[in-house]
Amino acid sequence: MNYVALAIPFFLLLIVVELIVDQWRKTKTYSINDTVNSLHVGILSQVSGLSRKLLQFSAYALLFEHVAVFNLGTESAWVWVFAFVAYDFCYYWYHRMSHEINGLWAAHVVHHQSEEYNLSTALRQTSGGIVGFVFYLPLAVIGIDPVILISVGSLNLIYQFWVHTRHIDKMPNWYEAVFVTPSNHRVHHAQNPVYLDKNYGGVFILWDRFFNTYHPELKDEPVIFGVTKPLASWNPIWANLEVYWGLLLDSLRTKKWSDKLKVWYARTGWRPADVSDSHPYPKFDPYKLVKYDVESTWSQKLYVLFQHLSTLGFVLVILYQAPGKSAADIMTTLFVVAYGLFSLGMIQQHQRFSFVIEFIKLMIWGAFALYGPFVYPVSATIIALWCVASAVWLVISYKFVNKIIIKSTVSGN
Ligand SMILES: [Zn+2]
Ligand SMILES: [Zn+2]
Repeated sequence: MNYVALAIPFFLLLIVVELIVDQWRKTKTYSINDTVNSLHVGILSQVSGLSRKLLQFSAYALLFEHVAVFNLGTESAWVWVFAFVAYDFCYYWYHRMSHEINGLWAAHVVHHQSEEYNLSTALRQTSGGIVGFVFYLPLAVIGIDPVILISVGSLNLIYQFWVHTRHIDKMPNWYEAVFVTPSNHRVHHAQNPVYLDKNYGGVFILWDRFFNTYHPELKDEPVIFGVTKPLASWNPIWANLEVYWGLLLDSLRTKKWSDKLKVWYARTGWRPADVSDSHPYPKFDPYKLVKYDVESTWSQKLYVLFQHLSTLGFVLVILYQAPGKSAADIMTTLFVVAYGLFSLGMIQQHQRFSFVIEFIKLMIWGAFALYGPFVYPVSATIIALWCVASAVWLVISYKFVNKIIIKSTVSGN
């Protein structure tokens, strides 16, 4: 059973708890735009996962049925324990390769783009990663039942949630030695040169100790979160495509034929010599990082927050009702949701035409809630009211307020 969908309300609740602690301790580990963006990246991953995971699961189940050496069954607790540990071992290698190979990094990078580190960062998961399931296929050959695989896989992901916090320092030594913890996972999210490519474990940090990729968090080297090639965008679609796009351009631009392919499987960061000469990436110093954000008025922030909360409700209904829906319904839903997430990202960035894009979103989402394949537990009047209230709020908070800001700036000169 996949426990992730069931865990989502607890994730959101714990994020609220961490937010309160953050306010109380004045630690400023949250920013509205960053949190909204992280959650939207997570939502896109969950919704796109409805079709992606079905394909991957089918491939696993097929292999299990025809190639499994043993049938370990689903009854014994030891099989579950073994599967849990073996899954994490496979996860270690998948995760490590996701950092060490260009083409796999392109999918995994979304988990690392946030320059903050809090529980919402945990939910930044990829919408790509189509080939990742290959790393778990040995479990099918051993004879781990697909049902167990899904269960231990979701438990593995749920475990990783709580380690994304700056509010827990170090756990007791024995725990730090065996398990992934907030401290050793902070190191994994760092862009400080000394911490790069370390601590890949999902539940057990033991793998990193065995395979020499462990590094502890140092007192005199505070972690700087994020990636060495900053995303600088609140668009969750672009977050998923940015590195793929860079690799594609490198692959098209290079004159050397073997490099066109090598771009995809080479060590992360490798670029064809001719392209890195003609199109160099700017040099980046993590110690001079200025966190990406876009200034907004309070009214604009509240609009984004209101739309974000609406998105959570809109998508939770989809996730809970999705099982059993047709492939066409799932694909349509993915486009509708992706468009909405893209639109709010444009609003967060004050992008040109974001008004028009957002107006269209309000209409599409309203129509989808009323006539789409999912049943929303609110009346048609409430949905219509949501559309109208959102539209009015959008005009007031962006068009009107922006004009006032421009005027006051002009008169101030
Ligand atoms: Zn990673
Ligand atoms: Zn992480």
